[in-house]
Amino acid sequence: RQAAFRTDLSVLLDQVGAGKESLSFMKRRIRRLTQQWATAANRLDAKLEQRWRDQKKILVHVGFLTEESGDVFSPKVLKGGPLGEMVQWADILTALHVLGHNLKISMSVKELQGFLGVPPGRGSCPLTGPLPFDLIYTDYHGLQQMKQHMGLSLKKHKCHIRVIDTFGTEPAYNHEEYATLHGYRTNWGYWNLNARQYMTMFPHTPDNSFMGFVSEELNETEKRSIQQNKVNNMAVVYGKEASMWKLQGKEGFLQILHRYMEVHGTVYYETQRPPEVPAFVKNHGLLPQHELQQLLRKAKLFIGFGFPYEGPAPLEAIANGCIFLQPKFHPPHSSLNHEFFRGKPTSREVFSQHPYAEQYIGRPHVMTVDYNNSLEFDSAIREIMRTKVEPYLPYEYTCEGMLERVHAYIQNQDFCAPEPPFIPANLSRQGSAGGGRMTGPPFVPLPNSTALSWASNVTAPTAWPPLSSLRLLVSQEGQSCVEACQSAGFICEPAHFRFINNKEALRGLEVQCEVVDSEINHILPAFSVVRRECGLQREPLLFSCAGHSPKYRRLCPCRDFRHGQVALCRDCL
Ligand code: UDP
Repeated sequence: RQAAFRTDLSVLLDQVGAGKESLSFMKRRIRRLTQQWATAANRLDAKLEQRWRDQKKILVHVGFLTEESGDVFSPKVLKGGPLGEMVQWADILTALHVLGHNLKISMSVKELQGFLGVPPGRGSCPLTGPLPFDLIYTDYHGLQQMKQHMGLSLKKHKCHIRVIDTFGTEPAYNHEEYATLHGYRTNWGYWNLNARQYMTMFPHTPDNSFMGFVSEELNETEKRSIQQNKVNNMAVVYGKEASMWKLQGKEGFLQILHRYMEVHGTVYYETQRPPEVPAFVKNHGLLPQHELQQLLRKAKLFIGFGFPYEGPAPLEAIANGCIFLQPKFHPPHSSLNHEFFRGKPTSREVFSQHPYAEQYIGRPHVMTVDYNNSLEFDSAIREIMRTKVEPYLPYEYTCEGMLERVHAYIQNQDFCAPEPPFIPANLSRQGSAGGGRMTGPPFVPLPNSTALSWASNVTAPTAWPPLSSLRLLVSQEGQSCVEACQSAGFICEPAHFRFINNKEALRGLEVQCEVVDSEINHILPAFSVVRRECGLQREPLLFSCAGHSPKYRRLCPCRDFRHGQVALCRDCL
């Protein structure tokens, strides 16, 4: 069946159910953004020009909100607890509904069993018939519950699953045996999924798929009125829980801020002002989302203290014309050195409170400074007060951007079909990149590497992203493919690893190999210059953009991306 865009959200609102603060929060959000979603649906509909879109049967099982997982979030909704996850789930549900899919929503194990057609309450009773869904969106809690209640059949059906995973899962942590043998075991990983089945909140490692969420959009009139009504000396602090204000002996910068600006907070409190919040701060208490937006419209500065990491609020602030000021982390925070990330299935290093804001948005909307350096901090504040900025929202965080991306994933990502055969290329060497009669994707040179081109007999017509987006690069020693691709203006594309994991690619790059081994190691394909050893990957699940090792230069499959929609290449739609 063909999917048709929906702009009426009333059926969705009924489906979400009631009786919990978390559900009410999501429904308020869905209602508030209804018009914005409808406009976006119409625009994307026009852009896709009647293209056929399969209507999929989709189950969304929100594991972390089930009683069976303890549901620690719902009681905290009104108390300053994490709301980012709720924001994202509300938006995922809306996107799937608006795209016109056949949606079922489950928030308990009982509902899950009902939808899957497994007999209730009998422990691990496998699902016998075919899976009644094309796609299942869930989270790590939900996966665990499905394992318990679908038993062995989970293995058979797991290619249909998508895991909403805020901070991401790197391939080395996802491969059970490899993780166990090499010290990447955590409480979360080890599901042996294709790493692109994990869908993140921000585009962290491209090994995962970037799902995202949306932020409020402004029309031109609103933008103008915001700019006219900005209060130049008004700052709002990022942090709705009092514990986020524990400044670890850094009260200094808050004093500096106060010297120049009126400081506002939205810190949850019961009866008394939380002692962590200094007396000069005008605390509004935790605000409903739309009231927070109003506050942000007046404020000039939104300032982070280092926690929470990577939430939605800075994007909302920037979208409302604030400048976001945040601390640089030196050394970077990661699962190796910070409690919050400990046990998370990633080694990603976080260089500031909100790396997306720093890397993808940057100045003048985002300033990342060393808070221990009071001179630097002081001059940042003064600069912010005199800088004029326009409200800004990256396309990928608009409703249209999210619909476009989710549409592309649903119609193109298929982890069930066997990988179509790939005919290794007849590689021809070229003197320089970009020149000559290259019929295939050009090779992007780094210092001391050669050009590589694919002859026209390379075929992988069903590949997505399409092969035309591939750019082969060699990383420096110690550099990951995430960084190597980024520094050349591209993004690492894990789906392309299978095209470059071969001797032809090595030969085309004129890599001197005395031996070419095929091994199970998440650094591969790669080569050691000193030892003249080359290695190809034997386990496709371990293809990893994130991997790096000091002794190896990696072969990196990069691709182009659309400005403001990093998940999609130029020819991806
Ligand atoms: N938020 C809110 N009221 C407030 C402060 C924040 O409704 O007083 C909302 C905000 O609009 C954002 C969400 O909380 O969409 C999550 O914000 P944050 O970036 O703090 O991420 P979290 O750590 O909660 O995941």
